[in-house]
Amino acid sequence: MEKREKIVLTGDRPTGKLHLGHFVGSIKNRVKLQDEASKCFYMVADIQALTDNADNPEKVRNNVIEVVLDNLACGVDPKKTTFFIQSQVPEIAELTILFMNLVTLQQLSHNPTIKTELKERGFGESTPFGFLAYPVSQAADILFCKANTVPVGIDQLPVLEQANEILKKFNATYNVNLFSKITGVVSDIPRLVGIDGGAKMSKSLGNCIYLSDSDVEIEKKVMQAYTDPGHIHVEDKGRVDGNVVFTYLDDFDEDKKGVEELKAQYQKGGLGDIVLKKRLTKVLIDLISPIRARREELAKDPKSIMKILESGIENARKEARKTMIEVRKALKIDYFS
Ligand code: ATP
Ligand code: MG
Repeated sequence: MEKREKIVLTGDRPTGKLHLGHFVGSIKNRVKLQDEASKCFYMVADIQALTDNADNPEKVRNNVIEVVLDNLACGVDPKKTTFFIQSQVPEIAELTILFMNLVTLQQLSHNPTIKTELKERGFGESTPFGFLAYPVSQAADILFCKANTVPVGIDQLPVLEQANEILKKFNATYNVNLFSKITGVVSDIPRLVGIDGGAKMSKSLGNCIYLSDSDVEIEKKVMQAYTDPGHIHVEDKGRVDGNVVFTYLDDFDEDKKGVEELKAQYQKGGLGDIVLKKRLTKVLIDLISPIRARREELAKDPKSIMKILESGIENARKEARKTMIEVRKALKIDYFS
């Protein structure tokens, strides 16, 4: 079988700085894939961020540069990856409108990701239509450049499935072969839990350790992390399952044997939370402080960040224009060409 050329698209919502969940769930794969793929795109999803932040455009605007800085500091390389801002490629909005006819309201409201996120955001009876429809716009984000490979956290897989449904329907309805199947690339840590033990570390849930946190902040957060509420005295037997400190040690501490020994000791009794938390603090400081240092360096020159985005936007629009010529032709709205 012919090997498919990889076109990668990935992105973040500019709703806050990026955290450890992003790092393990997606950014590490972005860095890896940029050396394997024939083209790579990194999108700042400002339009998507506005779907649940319509009343707070300043927040979205201010975080555009923050998410770009986080990605650059982790090694996403503008020489290999096209950085762009979603709103600055209007073809994506056009493609979204056209895709909207290929999906039902029922499909969107039954999508597991959407169901969870609606609950988390507590919209009740006031769900913004744009929010409900973001999987449609995400299909357009991916397909405007014909991407087929998307590194994501596991929370996003049902949204990718929806994009696959849309592209299948597009190809079948208009009898074309314009778009090919999208594969989600999930990492070995597909969903990092929050420091509160919540199912997912998430900007919107306030349970994050950020890639820009100072050593003092890291220590403070680790000290607050959820462990085993039944483990009160050092001599008490402790639970490892669901204990955030052990989850993070499993994920970030390279001394696997050492962690296993600590687990055994904790379960037997005789090991205090503080010892574990001190160890985890050190592990996380060692991981985050070089990223933070690169980030601070890059942040000194915001103009050069905007330049990276400007030239990336130009590049993304070139791809978008090419795809839209084919899309308009398929839909018979290419009146004057
Ligand atoms: P928001 O709360 O605004 O939705 P978020 O923290 O969920 O923010 P996104 O910008 O929505 O972050 O996600 C960007 C990428 O990072 C997605 O691919 C998502 O799946 C991944 N990701 C986010 N949080 C985690 C996590 N805790 N573990 C693994 N991957 C994650
Ligand atoms: Mg999210």
